[in-house]
Amino acid sequence: MSLPIYLIGARGCGKTTIGRALSLALDYAFSDTDHFLQQTTQQTVADIVAAEGWDGFRRRESQALMAVTAPATVIATGGGMVLAEDNRRFMREQGQVVYLKAEPEVLAARLSAYPQADQRPTLTGRPIADEMVEVLSQRDKLYHQAAHHVINAMQTPDQVVRQLLQALSLARAS
Ligand code: ADP
Ligand code: MG
Repeated sequence: MSLPIYLIGARGCGKTTIGRALSLALDYAFSDTDHFLQQTTQQTVADIVAAEGWDGFRRRESQALMAVTAPATVIATGGGMVLAEDNRRFMREQGQVVYLKAEPEVLAARLSAYPQADQRPTLTGRPIADEMVEVLSQRDKLYHQAAHHVINAMQTPDQVVRQLLQALSLARAS
């Protein structure tokens, strides 16, 4: 049976972009926990946070993680998914976990260039570059703890996907 593949990492590291491409390369389904939440609640992440606070959002996020988990599925997760130990353990037990790792400057540049690509409210209300430094200083070790594989996400999407396939040893003869 083909285990699910979880992509973890900070906002802007490419979980959605790489996840879609990887799912096509493997002929897997693709799920995105943020997207799942929006579909099932008919609210944006920002709406949920405004109505229920970050704690409420985090609870729903854990439920979304379980709901989208299925065989032969690539799952892009929200940037804060690793904050809960239960989520880290769940992903490691259920499948292969891949950390798409990038420097905070690169993440900030991507998010400023395409602000609409990410609909989350800022976590701190500070400039995006400062925020990414701070968020990664808190979360980098959690991403490492949760991950079976760490991939350099500061390459072209094609290169990232190729390395991922190698790491997962799922590359198909073509
Ligand atoms: P995430 O889902 O992790 O928040 P996205 O996949 O939405 O990240 O990517 C955020 C932005 O960065 C998008 O505009 C996307 O096109 C761009 N991007 C993603 N991966 C790469 C990459 N490897 N190289 C350059 N730009 C990228
Ligand atoms: Mg995304």
